[in-house]
Amino acid sequence: MLKLRRIELIGFKSFSDRGEITVHDSGVTAIVGPNGCGKSNVSDAIAWVLGEQSAKSLRGEKMEDVIFNGTRNRAPMGMAEVSITLTQIGNGNGNGNGNGSGPSSALWQRPLSEGQTRDIIVQRRLYRSGESLYLIDGKPCRLRDIQEIFLGTGLGPNSYAIIEQGRVGQLLSSKPSDRRALIEEAAGITKFKAKRKLAESRLEAARQNLSRVNDILAEVDRQRNSLKRQAGKARRYIEVRNRMREILSNVFSTRAEMFVDQQDRIEISLVLMGSEGKEREQEIERLSSFVHQRRTDVAAGEKNLDDLRGRRSEI
Ligand code: ATP
Repeated sequence: MLKLRRIELIGFKSFSDRGEITVHDSGVTAIVGPNGCGKSNVSDAIAWVLGEQSAKSLRGEKMEDVIFNGTRNRAPMGMAEVSITLTQIGNGNGNGNGNGSGPSSALWQRPLSEGQTRDIIVQRRLYRSGESLYLIDGKPCRLRDIQEIFLGTGLGPNSYAIIEQGRVGQLLSSKPSDRRALIEEAAGITKFKAKRKLAESRLEAARQNLSRVNDILAEVDRQRNSLKRQAGKARRYIEVRNRMREILSNVFSTRAEMFVDQQDRIEISLVLMGSEGKEREQEIERLSSFVHQRRTDVAAGEKNLDDLRGRRSEI
C-alpha cells in the first residue's frame, strides 16, 4: 500500500515560490481557496509527477506550459519541479509494487514485511530547454520505473485516485469499457494486466526471435547443402587428379624404360660401327700400301722398258 505524505512544488504553474503540502495521517486534507488560486494545479502536479504525458490533460497546450510563466511582478522561471513523498506500507505478500526482490534491485523495489514502512520520494523536473528528468529517491530513473511503483494502487495519471472537476459526471456517463478500466484499477487487476501485456509482448518478441532463428537455420541448412556439394566435387577432383598422376607416372616410367633400351641399342651399334670403322681404315691402309707398291713396280718396269729401248736403239 502507498500513502501520499507530502507534495513539494517549485516553478510548477502558479507555484513560483516553493510550495509544500503535507497530508496528515488521519482525516481528510483539503485545499481551500478562491477561484483561480491554484487548487487544481496541485492535482495537475500530482498527475504530472506520476508521468502524465498529455499537456492537454494538464490543461495546457504544450508541456512547457507547466513551467511558471511569470506575472506582472515576477519573471518566468526556467524549470518546474514537483516532488511527492509516499510511504510504502508492507502488506505481507511481497508488497506488490515493483518486480525486483534481489539484492541488486533499488531499495523501493525490495519487499516489506507486514506493517513495515518505508518512505519513497518521486520527482519530476522539466527545463524550458525541453530537458526532462525523473528521479526516485534522488536517483535518475525511467518513467517506467515510476509507473511500476503505482501500478494497481489507483495512483497515476488517468487513474481513479485523481478526479478533476467535472470528471465524476464524465465517468458516470462514460462507456462501460472505460468504467470497467477504472474498476479494474481499483481492484488491483491493472497491475496483473500490465504484467500480462508485458509477458505477452516478451512472448511475441521471443516468437519473432524464434522465427528469425528458424530463418537463420534454413539459411545455414542451404549453405551446408551447397558446401556438401562443393566438398563432394572437391573429393572427386582429388580422386581424378591422383588417378591422373598415377597414369602419367606409369606412362613416363614406360617411356623412360623404352628410352633406356633405345639408348643401350644405339650405344651397342655405335661400338660395332667404331670397330667396323677401324677395320675399314686398316683395309684402306693396306690397299694404299698395295697401290704404292704397284706404283713403285710400274715405275721400275717403265725404267726397265726405257733401258731396253735405249739398248735396242744402240744395237
Ligand atoms: P477553480 O477553482 O476556478 O477551478 P483553481 O483554484 O483550481 O480554480 P487553477 O485552475 O489550479 O485554480 O489555477 C489557475 C491559475 O493558475 C491561473 O491563475 C493561471 O494563471 C495560473 N497558471 C496556470 N499555469 C501557469 C503558469 N505556467 N505560470 C503561471 N501561472 C499559471
